[in-house]
Amino acid sequence: MNVLFVAAEVDPLVKTGGLADVAGALPAALRAAEHDVRVVMPRYRVLRERGVPMEGPVAASFLPIGEWAEEQRVWRLSGGAAPLYLLDIPAAFERASIYGEGDDHRRFILFARGVMDLMQYLREVEGWQPDVVHCNDWHAALVINYIKTFYAYTFGHIATVFTIHNLAYQGASPPETLSLAGLSERGLVENGLGPRIAGTFNFMARGIVFGDVVTTVSPTYAEEIMTADYGEGLDGVLRAKRDRVVGILNGIDTTVFDPATDRHLAANYSAGDPLGRVMCKVALQREFALPEVPDRPLLGVVSRLVEQKGLDLVEAVMPWLLRETDAQLVLLGSGQAQWQDTFSRISAAHPTRVGVRIGFDAALAQRIYAGSDCFLMPSRFEPCGLGQMIALRYGSVPIVRATGGLNDTVQEGYEGNGFRFHPYEARYFTDAIGRALAAYRDEAGWAVLRERGMREDNSWAHAANRYGRVYEAARWVRGA
Ligand code: ADP
Repeated sequence: MNVLFVAAEVDPLVKTGGLADVAGALPAALRAAEHDVRVVMPRYRVLRERGVPMEGPVAASFLPIGEWAEEQRVWRLSGGAAPLYLLDIPAAFERASIYGEGDDHRRFILFARGVMDLMQYLREVEGWQPDVVHCNDWHAALVINYIKTFYAYTFGHIATVFTIHNLAYQGASPPETLSLAGLSERGLVENGLGPRIAGTFNFMARGIVFGDVVTTVSPTYAEEIMTADYGEGLDGVLRAKRDRVVGILNGIDTTVFDPATDRHLAANYSAGDPLGRVMCKVALQREFALPEVPDRPLLGVVSRLVEQKGLDLVEAVMPWLLRETDAQLVLLGSGQAQWQDTFSRISAAHPTRVGVRIGFDAALAQRIYAGSDCFLMPSRFEPCGLGQMIALRYGSVPIVRATGGLNDTVQEGYEGNGFRFHPYEARYFTDAIGRALAAYRDEAGWAVLRERGMREDNSWAHAANRYGRVYEAARWVRGA
């Protein structure tokens, strides 16, 4: 199949979050599965400044916006896993920041208009046309809206897939966005768009309404976002097309996250030869100036320090953990000052039990996955979650709240790979940690549990397979 993959950020060019990881890895995995995937993203100023070598411009056009028009030039980058097109729209992307500008709505209308022009160029000049257009998050949602309305005569036969990476960011914009985009309300009310959205222009709602198939990044999150508790006002729109909402777990890059070859570790190891792990543990205790005792349980946290990640639960279990157990804890994170202060204070008060580093440090994160016995992730909500999958691969047994992707990747009990709890309360989290620490005392049983997690296949190849089937389904919906 020919697939045009549309995203606002693509690793390693531009990355602010998990979307970039997906946009960097999934197209490559799809190409390995024989799909002809091409990727399109904005050409932000940082890419020009960094001197990323691009061919072009290969095309130029004017993009309508309200009663005005802006210039676009298209650049091409061929060296990567999939051909990449960069839309150079100075009015939108010649800025210091990626998102968070007051006129983001205007910028991503232009991006969507630019993608439509790119599709015309690809067809007329390169002789290439997508069977499926796969749009990611609100920044790309209007592409689908345009395909289904303005461009229906030219492109209406093309199947569309819309993927939600985090429903919390919807691109809710002022009402005049409608006329700037040259769109109408047609198709929205019929599709169950609730009154909460009326009065604002919601990019993501349009991707959901007009997409042939909607996907999100885990099966449990797909169920959750159809409920009022997690739906962020769009649960009604999602329920209206329940049969076409699919959850597909993200993968992890198993070449980057591989304890057998990871150069950041004190020693390498694998599921079949875990000896190096104990060296990683002692090295980690040393790095955090904790007593170097290999047989004491060591818990790890690597997280953005934000509300979503359940840090209030981690704080709440600390007195119990310090009083009733002999466990050590190491935490790496950055984010809200409140949490940075809280955990720094706990560490200062208990330097032999708790080590804390504030900052973003990918190498240290990998040493924590490798050296800790258990990995804590008590999230309030978690669309997919990479931390627990990396922890599994490195042999750090996850203790998680059973929500979103955590619920799909961590199971407890016979044939399980970790420990879980559900009601968002400290006592249930305490119980789960207690069960893990009890299991840890049985050395042979623990080794079996840990090895089972390490041998799991959470690679992108697996996910790409499932996306291939979603593309087929979307083409059926289109009648292709
Ligand atoms: P989210 O995308 O919501 O932050 P995920 O679990 O999906 O959560 O992905 C988080 C990724 O970022 C993981 O790979 C984790 O190791 C990494 N990470 C989070 N915080 C830090 C940090 N302070 N330093 C290094 N890596 C971090």
